[in-house]
Amino acid sequence: AAKTGAGGWARFVPAMDASAVEAARLAAGLRDGLGRGDFRVVYQPIVTLPEQRIAGVEALVRWHDPERGLIPPDRFIPVAERSGLIVPLGRWVLREACGQAAAWSAVYGGAAPSRVCVNVSPRQLDEPDFVDDVAAALADSGLPAEYLVVEVTETAVFGGGRAVEALHALRALGVRVALDDFGTGHSSLGLLLTCPVDILKVDKSFVDGVTEPGDRAVIVEFLCQVARGLELDTVAEGVEDAAQAARLHELGYRKGQGYLFARPLPAAELADLLLAALAP
Ligand code: C2E
Ligand code: CA
Ligand code: CA
Ligand code: CA
Repeated sequence: AAKTGAGGWARFVPAMDASAVEAARLAAGLRDGLGRGDFRVVYQPIVTLPEQRIAGVEALVRWHDPERGLIPPDRFIPVAERSGLIVPLGRWVLREACGQAAAWSAVYGGAAPSRVCVNVSPRQLDEPDFVDDVAAALADSGLPAEYLVVEVTETAVFGGGRAVEALHALRALGVRVALDDFGTGHSSLGLLLTCPVDILKVDKSFVDGVTEPGDRAVIVEFLCQVARGLELDTVAEGVEDAAQAARLHELGYRKGQGYLFARPLPAAELADLLLAALAP
């Protein structure tokens, strides 16, 4: 505050920059959208290599704002995390995905994806009620815990807090844990010793370079050897062409996910794929 000529106190409020204004607007929109039910979940297949059988799906949230149209998660998830809205939004995604997976399994039996992977943000993992929420989502949907995978990032578990404890509790329920975007965070391989992990998802930025000799290809191969040595399942993310898929299989990757196999799809379209797989 500064003394003004008139004898009053003028307060200097730092000007809100355009991105802060936009973030505040998005946060308000998110709150309304949650109330109105403007969110949907789409499902991207995770396939076995080399057979390309659908082994699982990743649930990815979509926001259809009535005025702004489709807003990509890369724009609203960070805002949802900072505002805390990721907690109710993430809880909704989890319940939706569990319900959907239970329905597929009832209709398609063995041809249904045997895993549904749900992204969990650091903020959710740190919530004291998180494990109870997961247990309730499983109980209410009737989905066996073994069908659920929580995807967490290295940063989420590196920060300490309740995260690692929560992951142990989830595993005790039978839920699997995947380390997402592996290789992009600032942690070390030591994380694999302290954090309970079942699945390693290697980030697209590494997969992109797998067919050209170079540093990226070396890292993709090395990460697969580490994962296999530790008896972790491996998923290569962002696979876009057949040459990458072939090379990843050669290197020992068990599963792949990417536009080559399928884009994220609404539940009804994924069901069409499952039907096609059932057909003789
Ligand atoms: P992610 O968890 O790494 O999810 C994979 C992203 O890569 C998805 O983007 C997917 O559509 C995209 N993708 C898959 N295959 C390919 C490919 O072959 N090429 C390219 N270029 N992209 C591919 P999406 O759906 O836009 O989601 C972006 C990020 O938003 C996710 O990255 C995740 O971090 C976050 N997110 C999405 N849904 C949720 C959610 O329900 N909860 C939380 N906490 N985060 C979410
Ligand atoms: Ca993910
Ligand atoms: Ca990822
Ligand atoms: Ca990512």
